[in-house]
Amino acid sequence: MRKPKLREVGEAVRALLRGPVTTRFPFETHEPAPAFRGRPTFYADDCIGCKACAEVCPARCIEVVDDLSRRPPTRRLVLHYDKCIFCGHCELNCSTQKGVRLGKEYDLACFDRSQCVQTVENELVICETCGAVVGAKKHLLFVAARLGAKRYANPALLVLAEAELGLCQPSPPRDPLAPMIRENLMRVTCPRCRRTLVLQELWGE
Ligand code: SF4
Ligand code: SF4
Repeated sequence: MRKPKLREVGEAVRALLRGPVTTRFPFETHEPAPAFRGRPTFYADDCIGCKACAEVCPARCIEVVDDLSRRPPTRRLVLHYDKCIFCGHCELNCSTQKGVRLGKEYDLACFDRSQCVQTVENELVICETCGAVVGAKKHLLFVAARLGAKRYANPALLVLAEAELGLCQPSPPRDPLAPMIRENLMRVTCPRCRRTLVLQELWGE
């Protein structure tokens, strides 16, 4: 019985000598541990607008807004960090590994939750045949660069990458009433239109 009591006294004395383990925040700045997961932040230069982060976010705090009325059409990612649970899945699954990163910022209290947002914008590529969203331009160029010579298997990626290098001119707008013909394959098209074109090429109408 006496031994545990002596141990407790020893611990109390050691704690007195060591001082408090809690910090004096907010009166003093607190330095988080090296692996601390704080506020996630988008880095526009490294974000390609693929929206992988929004798809994996368990708290659904990354909103994707595709605005087709703007010129050029734009994808806006809105991070509502007031809903964030700091799990780090967005950073872990980011296609570039650098587009969104969790920092050390932890003092996120605010009076107006609508102010607790951060946004990043990327230009969108639209299907030249039907007007649907194909993807963010930086994302498609990122995929084309990763594929290297294999991008020749995908006309949309090929046309986009060659146009970026100034090796081809953008196609004139397609007449929506004109029939879908083979030459439309060499346009930037969405997967649905490409499928229609290939099926028509193989089996006709
Ligand atoms: S840290 Fe988790 S909850 Fe917060 S934005 Fe990233 S994926 Fe969503
Ligand atoms: S590049 Fe990263 S941060 Fe940008 S949309 Fe894709 S996953 Fe999100």
